[in-house]
Amino acid sequence: MKYDVIIIGAGPGGIFSAYELMKKSPNLKVAVFEAGNPLEKRHCPIDGDKVKSCVNCPTCAIMNGFGGAGAFSDGKYNITNDFGGTLYEYIGKEKALDLMKYVDEINMSHGGENTRMFSTAGSEFKKICMQNKLQLLDASVRHLGTDINYIVLGNLFEEMKDHIDFHFMTPVRRIETVDDSSYKVITDNDSFECSKCIVSVGRSGSSWMEQICKDLNIETSSNRVDIGVRVEIPAVIFSHLTDKLYESKIVYRTAKFEDKVRTFCMNPNGIVVNENTNGIVTVNGHSFEDEDKKTENTNFALLVAKHFSEPFKDSNGYGESIARLSNMLGGGVIVQRFGDLERGRRSNWKRIAEGTVRPTLAATPGDLSLVLPKRILDGIVEMIYALDKIAPGTANDDTLLYGVEVKFYNMEVKLDEHLESNHKGLYIIGDGSGVTHSLSHASASGVFVAREIAQTLA
Ligand SMILES: Cc1cc2nc3c(=O)[nH]c(=O)nc-3n(C[C@H](O)[C@H](O)[C@H](O)COP(=O)(O)OP(=O)(O)OC[C@H]3O[C@@H](n4cnc5c(N)ncnc54)[C@H](O)[C@@H]3O)c2cc1C
Repeated sequence: MKYDVIIIGAGPGGIFSAYELMKKSPNLKVAVFEAGNPLEKRHCPIDGDKVKSCVNCPTCAIMNGFGGAGAFSDGKYNITNDFGGTLYEYIGKEKALDLMKYVDEINMSHGGENTRMFSTAGSEFKKICMQNKLQLLDASVRHLGTDINYIVLGNLFEEMKDHIDFHFMTPVRRIETVDDSSYKVITDNDSFECSKCIVSVGRSGSSWMEQICKDLNIETSSNRVDIGVRVEIPAVIFSHLTDKLYESKIVYRTAKFEDKVRTFCMNPNGIVVNENTNGIVTVNGHSFEDEDKKTENTNFALLVAKHFSEPFKDSNGYGESIARLSNMLGGGVIVQRFGDLERGRRSNWKRIAEGTVRPTLAATPGDLSLVLPKRILDGIVEMIYALDKIAPGTANDDTLLYGVEVKFYNMEVKLDEHLESNHKGLYIIGDGSGVTHSLSHASASGVFVAREIAQTLA
């Protein structure tokens, strides 16, 4: 079977490539291969009642399927070059922003029109942050929310399904070069040919991507992991920021080591949750649109970026080892009061119960100083005191710290300014390329390559 374009992966990157190709070049024969299910068939068996933890389904309903990793997310589309990826390094800042705005327009015309856009533009917090050695990153944030995000994805699929061949539950096993101008895409039962191939396999496809790069001699590099804790405080302490900005991305440069510590994934009135990656339990956070599910707490991560230089290459392995240490000591995630950390003692249930912050995750009280490297912990403590100046109460003794939170990065694939690999017509986009780490950047990279292909095949 022959296609003009084959897209591998139906996450935001793949979806927006397909959508833009349908709009710009309706005559092209396009197929999407996706390892997971169509949107309506994506159901995680964890119900918190009969099934409490991961049962390792053959295809993970949370990470795989139409909509990709972000299908059940909070749907925060950050329109910015300041974080979420480095797409601008390849295509320029203005173009990257234009594409993110275009993606927003499409989301708005497919069910997102009544959602709110938050912005740091003209915010008084920028100055307050600066006065306290903190930097508030610029962004406009479209908050779709889990429910609307799902509706938008459903509407996009409806519009595409009669124009594009979707092959669900069809993981691609291999890609082979046929000659200089075409590729063979091999699944369990078939093989398909195409002249252009867009690979958009996200984080869940990172090992597969690594193998493909080895097979096809595509250069890669990997040297970063972010390590830190999740902070939980009463929501009122941060409400002046979260009410106006929803999520504020704040960066602090430590006085001691000049390391960068940043806030990440802020969840107003949310909950702290376990995350299981390959059997290693780390911490994460969620928030809900549903008023009944809102809590009295806000949580966010404080992460320190760790870059390694030669000869060390396994940055993700380093992050995993630290997470394993917390699992060894706590049987999972460890929770500690900030006051206990500062006094050099472990937390226990009694002290936590006497505190003013009710934990939303049943983690094991312990001592994070036995888990996190000193340099990382020092940076986190410094930042908590800096945040206390713009949100008094952050450095209270009862503030809860959960550890560890790790943000793993995909290896970076060597690409040119067209997001094309050293093989002509083989484009690698989204989180799987290491170029993006977010919904808006991944989607924008999809639109970008679709336009490139539409031009060359016109
Ligand atoms: C719980 C959660 C919440 C998040 N919340 C936000 C948020 O609010 N804002 C934000 O900006 N980002 C968020 N993110 C990150 C965001 O979801 C990703 O950055 C984004 O989805 C990346 O898009 P992508 O298309 O590159 O990859 P993905 O969305 O990961 O999609 C890749 C797709 O490729 C498929 N695939 C993989 N390998 C193969 C193969 N061999 N053959 C066929 N198919 C394959 C996978 O099944 C998957 O569906 C969140 C992520 C998670 C997990």
